[in-house]
Amino acid sequence: MPDLAALANNWPVSRHAWPMIAAGCLGLIVAAASWYAVSIWEERLARAEFTAVANEYATALQNGLNDYLDHIVAVRAFYDASREVDPEEFQSFTRHILQDYADIMRLVWAPRVTREERPAFEREAEKLGLTGYRIRTWSLGANPDVSPPRDEYFPILYSTVASQRTASFGLDINSEPVRGEAIRLARERDALTTAQAVTIRNPIKGRREGIIAVIPVYRHGTPRDSVEDRLDNTLGVLAAAIPIAVAFDAILDGVNLPQTVDLHVYGSSKNAEGPVYVRGASASSDRSIAKPEKEFLNQPQWSTILKAGNASWRLIATPSQQSRSKYYRAWLVSLAVVLLFSAILAYMWASFRHARRLEEVNEKILELAETDLLTNLANRRAFMKRLTMAIAAAWRGGSPFAVLYLDIDNFKDVNDTLGHGMGDLLLKEVVHRLNHAVRAEDFLARFGGDEFAIFMDNVTEPAQAGALAARIGGVLTAPFSLKGHKIRVTSSIGIALYAPDVTGPEEMLMQADLALYRAKDDGRNCYRFHSRELDSEVHERVQTAEELRIALDHNELELYYQPQVELATGRIVGLEALIRWNHKTRGLLTPGAFIAIAEKTGTILPLGQWVFDEACRQFKRWRDEGIAPLILSVNVSGVQFRGACELEREVESSLTRWQIPPDDLELELTESVLMQATQRHRTTLEKLRRLGIKIAIDDFGTGYSSLKYLTTYSVNRLKLAPEFVFRVTVDYRNAAVVKAAIRLAGELGLDVIAEGVETDAQMRFLLGAGCERGQGYYFSPPVDVAKVTELLRSGRIEPQNQPLRPASSSAA
Ligand code: C2E
Ligand code: MG
Ligand code: MG
Repeated sequence: MPDLAALANNWPVSRHAWPMIAAGCLGLIVAAASWYAVSIWEERLARAEFTAVANEYATALQNGLNDYLDHIVAVRAFYDASREVDPEEFQSFTRHILQDYADIMRLVWAPRVTREERPAFEREAEKLGLTGYRIRTWSLGANPDVSPPRDEYFPILYSTVASQRTASFGLDINSEPVRGEAIRLARERDALTTAQAVTIRNPIKGRREGIIAVIPVYRHGTPRDSVEDRLDNTLGVLAAAIPIAVAFDAILDGVNLPQTVDLHVYGSSKNAEGPVYVRGASASSDRSIAKPEKEFLNQPQWSTILKAGNASWRLIATPSQQSRSKYYRAWLVSLAVVLLFSAILAYMWASFRHARRLEEVNEKILELAETDLLTNLANRRAFMKRLTMAIAAAWRGGSPFAVLYLDIDNFKDVNDTLGHGMGDLLLKEVVHRLNHAVRAEDFLARFGGDEFAIFMDNVTEPAQAGALAARIGGVLTAPFSLKGHKIRVTSSIGIALYAPDVTGPEEMLMQADLALYRAKDDGRNCYRFHSRELDSEVHERVQTAEELRIALDHNELELYYQPQVELATGRIVGLEALIRWNHKTRGLLTPGAFIAIAEKTGTILPLGQWVFDEACRQFKRWRDEGIAPLILSVNVSGVQFRGACELEREVESSLTRWQIPPDDLELELTESVLMQATQRHRTTLEKLRRLGIKIAIDDFGTGYSSLKYLTTYSVNRLKLAPEFVFRVTVDYRNAAVVKAAIRLAGELGLDVIAEGVETDAQMRFLLGAGCERGQGYYFSPPVDVAKVTELLRSGRIEPQNQPLRPASSSAA
């Protein structure tokens, strides 16, 4: 199964772009689908709406037509109700009834005139004011001919158009075949009858197509039961001419309907040329399209039949251009969807860019997080990463490797004496040389301060790692020239080799660190390999440190005292307090077993304080008893000087508490403590000296070759190291050194005491060399309070002839 996440990450498109592309595609699909759905719905809705509106138009037109006809029927009712209708009555009644329709519909009264009645009728008509009235044959022309003799005439006598010029008075409507037919049918049926597709005369507005509606009026009181009756008893006809297009317009102008349909009205005749009426947007464009079926082939349409009497039309309604644009809703919805998705896309794009930028910043931060800013080397974090990978690879059968942990010896001195700027410069130079010493495939990192680590790949032989360590040691020993200073440094290196049972990078690094400690312990400027023994040693140390903390609280510590003796007389002139640990399981432990650990873990601080106070307490007792010696010496560790203020305060408070005169007290410091002392240490020492406390240099001669510190500090006493004293009688060079030291002390005005006096010969040599005081097994080993009290009581010590312990088992 392929790793999909990896695949997505390796794809050329960033993984942040995927959701965006997906959203885009989804957006398009949803937009298309919603457009489709909405447009179907929209179309249905539009169709329903269209049908409803078309229906309303049809109803309005039909009602309008009916209305026209109803008004004609109303005029006939007026005729039926009157005995005789004169022109004024006709005018006033029709004006009253047809007031809204007068402009559109022309209504005439055409009485039935027989051939016999014609002359009299024409005379009567002239009397009514119709000058030159003659019955004329129907014609569309301006001057119709006088009618030839006929059996029956239906000449126009009254007209709603009052003007003589336009009223067509005298025209025999019966002489026109279509109208004549309508009259015949109307008379026969006694019903309103219409004739369709007739050309209507209108001298002013021209000819129009329209309908003629005819209704018969019968003589009062005559029967009209049979067709003959009705034909015989016809008084005349009321005929109305309605220009159909004008009428439809008038009807529709009177109603308020939405302009969403186009109307096309076709006459019933099969050979009609085109629509008799068109209304709507397309009305003006093309009226000559012959076949309605063809015209609306691709459009929704709705049709019905309009009727007026026996005239009928086909009404076809189609959605107007305007209403078709009502599909906007579908567009609107899909537009909204597209907009929404565009917004989502834009948002995602923005967050993609944001994420991308974050990623870049992250990468930068990660890079910085794995770089040491001073040297541009990889830092601890990066190193651990590399190591983790290497361990994982080695577990899977990859090549073994080594980790080298390097520390510049006494780098702190450079910082303290030349300043941090020089320290940094030195580090950069060191890195420069390290880079040359390591192989290209090695991985160099700085852990901070003067600590470096090297990952060395492909180490099949421990000797390979040893060789690299030696090479590094070599390149670093050459002096560095920095801003006119010549600086010499050495390095200590701890090496850990990969072993399959290693639990992880931390453990390997710890192993290298332990090996480094061992290298430091072994005198620095060397390299050491990690080993199992080293582990157990460290384990023991850790345990000891823990136990020591508990021992302090459980009073397992005890002070032994070793007398300092006037060599010539054996008189006890001083005591050195030396700590012992009554360990529950390991028995009495000398300082060598735990002081170094106490220093490393910090336990030396409470321990030192306890020693000081305990020594003062005991000294007070001896003073009270009157057997106290001149001097009480207490050892002080360099670590105790780090908390200088504390030390000063503790010393002072113990002295006050036990009422010890400060000049009875001597602090023993080693040369190295004085050499490493900073300005703060110096101040502390000065303050202690001002209190009256004495200072002795312990193990004089073993530490530094420089004696400069002797002039810097006001020291009281030198304690010659046992290493020299042991051999004064067997090695003339030792003897020379001891003599020189004693002379130096004399010239500087310092007291001197020899430590490690074990034999009578040594004592005699010392006396001969001018050293007046000594301390050693020859007089007494360090002993507990009870024993030393006894010695103090006797005041002096008879020198032993034999050392109590062989020199080789020195505890220090
Ligand atoms: P040091 O101050 O130089 O003490 C003298 C050491 O030499 C003592 O070892 C003592 O037992 C030993 N010694 C004295 N005479 C002879 C001799 O004739 N022959 C031989 N072979 N050894 C002799 P110790 O008591 O084991 O103390 C070792 C070191 O531990 C001390 O060296 C001192 O540096 C440190 N130390 C002892 N007590 C304290 C303490 O309370 N505080 C601190 N900070 N360090 C202490
Ligand atoms: Mg000492
Ligand atoms: Mg000593």
